[in-house]
Amino acid sequence: MSLWWSLTDHPEFATKPLDQSWDVVIVGGGFSGLWCAHHLNTINPDLKIAVIEQSTVGSGASGRNGGWASALYPINDDKMISHFSAEIIASLHTQLRESIDEIGEFARSQDIDCDFHKGGSLQIARNAAQMSRLRDGLEDGYILLDESQTRAKINMNGAIGAAFTPHCAVINPAALIVGLALSLERRGISIFENTTATFSADNQVIVGDRFIAANAVVRAIEAYHANTREQLPIYSLMVATQPLPDHVFDEIGIANRETFAENAHLVTYAQRTADNRLAIGGRGAPYIWGSRRSDANESLAGMHEQIRVMARRWFPILRDYEFTHAWGGAVAVTRDWAAYVRFDGKYGELGGYAGDGVTLAYLAAAAMADLVTHKETRRTKLPFIQWRSRLWEPEPLRWLGVNAAIKLSEAADTEERVTGRPSILMKLLAPITGQ
Ligand SMILES: Cc1cc2nc3c(=O)[nH]c(=O)nc-3n(C[C@H](O)[C@H](O)[C@H](O)COP(=O)(O)OP(=O)(O)OC[C@H]3O[C@@H](n4cnc5c(N)ncnc54)[C@H](O)[C@@H]3O)c2cc1C
Repeated sequence: MSLWWSLTDHPEFATKPLDQSWDVVIVGGGFSGLWCAHHLNTINPDLKIAVIEQSTVGSGASGRNGGWASALYPINDDKMISHFSAEIIASLHTQLRESIDEIGEFARSQDIDCDFHKGGSLQIARNAAQMSRLRDGLEDGYILLDESQTRAKINMNGAIGAAFTPHCAVINPAALIVGLALSLERRGISIFENTTATFSADNQVIVGDRFIAANAVVRAIEAYHANTREQLPIYSLMVATQPLPDHVFDEIGIANRETFAENAHLVTYAQRTADNRLAIGGRGAPYIWGSRRSDANESLAGMHEQIRVMARRWFPILRDYEFTHAWGGAVAVTRDWAAYVRFDGKYGELGGYAGDGVTLAYLAAAAMADLVTHKETRRTKLPFIQWRSRLWEPEPLRWLGVNAAIKLSEAADTEERVTGRPSILMKLLAPITGQ
């Protein structure tokens, strides 16, 4: 179980008959599905909306992520610029930043105790190669910190610099999703848990052997859309410490609960929780043949241990403390690493957030609500609108390429540690990693 669910009670939702017709049926009770219901209800409170969730709300990635409500977008600007104007790309970044504040404001206005705190984020360099990549790739909204400025914020072993942005908040994602779901129920939206939906060939929703009548249908199942060449489930694993005494954070820093990551090729991410734990995540779990999902990939003991070892390398003081939680989940990665929000007038689908979905799902869902209600807004001009990535390669090429990329990312980090120069291996892998 994720740390977040161990700290958060799951509510009971009133049960109603599903056997009726709806204005909108949303399949998937994560951030995408629930925010979609929220935005639709904000546009038109009279819409009759059902959310169908196969397990419980937030049981997917939304209730087990790293809790970074960041303004990150998975694809770089220099990749987007060949398809979109600089104004549209700038608007995407602006809207992502605004979305963080809107999530915080929503939580405040609804009295949702999800520990939202906007302390910014640090991308930390621990060797010369990581530092030069930070410097070269410094984006708008980030400032470069030298070693002493970095250490004033975070005392990470070996840190020689960092990029800091104020545009990131921490949350307990399970608490946010419970608060969001309860707010939807109060507003008359029906949530059906433990109800699995399938789709007919013409994208109608089927539950059991019944078609559910709806004017519009939204598929919001992100990485659960598996066994396809449209996207891959890539696994991210996390661990969390016991609550740490104050003197530990006197040594470590992150006094403003800045999120942080090492600027390595193999993705890492961490937050200081409201109850003074460190929750730390990393990628590196193998990709499964055929883009299949497997719960076993969420609890790989070796991967969890690797993250604990990394954490103690960052902060040797952690050797004296226990790690109490270990969990994981999948994120969806499209071939060009771009997210998508598509609607054909009756059927819509959104996802492909590649591990940046906490804020992005809020914005993507707002755009989906605009499309469903036929509104033209600044959101319906964003790069993910009606975006269709090319397909991943057929097997065995996909399996070979993706697993090689995961392994070589690890090797590239070692190469950079040893040489101090940006990895040549990673340049070769750019077509797969999207970077
Ligand atoms: C370990 C981990 C750490 C992460 N850290 C961060 C982070 O710090 N910051 C960040 O921005 N992003 C992070 N992410 C990514 C982020 O959590 C996701 O992008 C986001 O939660 C996706 O939300 P979603 O609603 O689209 O998908 P999900 O939360 O996965 O929701 C999909 C829901 O659909 C349901 N479902 C699937 N199939 C069906 C069906 N047939 N019928 C009915 N229901 C169905 C599932 O049960 C699930 O509840 C992380 C992800 C993981 C796994």
